[in-house]
Amino acid sequence: MRSTMMDTPLLISRLLEHGATVHGSAEVVTATGAEPRRMTYAQVGRDAARLAHALRDLGVTGDQRVATFMWNNAEHLVAYFAVPGMGAVLHTLNIRLFPDQLTYIANHAEDHVVLVDHTLLPLLAKVLPQLTTVRHVVVNGPADLAALRHSAGDRVTVHAWEELLAGRPETYDWPELDERDAAALCYTSGTTGNPKGVAYSHRSLWLHALQVCMPEGFGLGATDRTLAVVPMFHAMSWGLPYASFMAGSSLIMPDRFLQAEPLAAMIAGERATIAGAVPTIWTDLLTYLDAHPTDTSSLREVIVGGSACPPALMHAFLERHDIRVIHAWGMTETSPLGSVARPPAGVDGEQEWRYRYTQGRVPAGVAARIVGASGEVLPADGASVGELEVRGPWVTGRYLGEETPGEEKFRDGWLRTGDVGALSADGFITLTDRAKDVIKSGGEWISSVELENALMAHPAVLEACVVGVPDERWGERPLATVVLQEGASATPAQLHEFLAGTLARWQLPERWAFIEAVPKTSVGKFDKKVVRQRYAEGDLRAEQLT
Ligand code: AMP
Repeated sequence: MRSTMMDTPLLISRLLEHGATVHGSAEVVTATGAEPRRMTYAQVGRDAARLAHALRDLGVTGDQRVATFMWNNAEHLVAYFAVPGMGAVLHTLNIRLFPDQLTYIANHAEDHVVLVDHTLLPLLAKVLPQLTTVRHVVVNGPADLAALRHSAGDRVTVHAWEELLAGRPETYDWPELDERDAAALCYTSGTTGNPKGVAYSHRSLWLHALQVCMPEGFGLGATDRTLAVVPMFHAMSWGLPYASFMAGSSLIMPDRFLQAEPLAAMIAGERATIAGAVPTIWTDLLTYLDAHPTDTSSLREVIVGGSACPPALMHAFLERHDIRVIHAWGMTETSPLGSVARPPAGVDGEQEWRYRYTQGRVPAGVAARIVGASGEVLPADGASVGELEVRGPWVTGRYLGEETPGEEKFRDGWLRTGDVGALSADGFITLTDRAKDVIKSGGEWISSVELENALMAHPAVLEACVVGVPDERWGERPLATVVLQEGASATPAQLHEFLAGTLARWQLPERWAFIEAVPKTSVGKFDKKVVRQRYAEGDLRAEQLT
């Protein structure tokens, strides 16, 4: 029997219409360095219609790609709705990539238009001559357009956002699209080979947004004020923009003001209730809050993901600032929400903490399994360690441009995450490492993440990044690179002794280097490739304990 239910497509334009009407008075607040700018969701709806009209006039048709080169701000939000709403594909370019990668990505995606923040023009100008498919650049904010026009050449027409939208109709006849068509496009920040494209569908973004709103997700509601620190150019800002329109939660956007001081000011000034960012942002914020008492009482929780959240960070936020940190895991390929660490009913104390340290529990939309080295599925017993594989309606089944899913990343309809860990019977994932970061020492595996977490629990340590380096006797051994807290001191021997309290002796690093800062990737994660390379090239002065 076929169902009797309406087959109403799950479209981004429906999310826009809902948010702009039912939650029309919710607001998006954008940091400016002075008084923040405010725009209601009703206004976002009107501007999205205007932008869609403007893009049509620029010749955007069908599923053409419209790229953004923008911070988290109100105009980026407008583009998030206008572009997929009209049937085109929103391509969020990562502003922190090297020019070569940006060029590759924009050309691979065949971007037709680039929407850019005026503060990012110098970066875009560097690559623009190489972006062979781009015909229009739309600049958001005040800028010297004459200079850009000159450097852009004849192929590209430059427009000012305000002028382009002025006088256009405030409504748009959003087309009835196929919910399975691409709505947005994001390239992985892959550290090897060329970046790969993941094309989200209207349907996948919708279902994912529902999960973000679920209590077991981020639990967004109409009374929330969501501080979206995680960039809109990285995995769709974890789905926060779409989920906020769905739930009616207001959005607080930091634009380019991502340092701890302005973030703390936004939390206090805008009464943020929830916030999401990678661990390094929270590490900086913790140091700031410790030194500058700030009213963070509005925050009901902060979501930390993108890299393993050190347990010490969770404890410090709770004990010193009464802020609950929730750990989550995901990838560009999973939209990105994969799991959220909310403990099950009936646990407390130490047991509750053990659940909260994990990468989290998978929701109904994400099936997970652990697979061993020869491709055998291992039991979900919380102990068997192998590669994590996932599948579900918001998990990509291939990369853009692939006819069939590549074997390296896909197996029998499952995505191979490249993450190594265990899965418990009640659905909690505990990751020990990235497959390529596991340290293989004398036939045994050492988890670099476990060592980092243990080190970051030392009061003198701000950040610690551990990588495997070649060793004649053992094949590989851990090298610990450590950033000390300002004014603090510690010796390798002391840190080694500290680790011996929680880890087996054979796992402990002999090689130690104190560094100014851990190198970070374009999305703020520890860049282990760079650390390994620096060591190999003799750039790191490592001390060796005997
Ligand atoms: P990206 O696609 O750039 O977001 O990177 C996804 C990768 O980030 C995952 O495959 C993991 O290796 C890593 N990652 C994300 N969240 C976590 C987490 N909570 N703990 C450990 N690694 C994480």
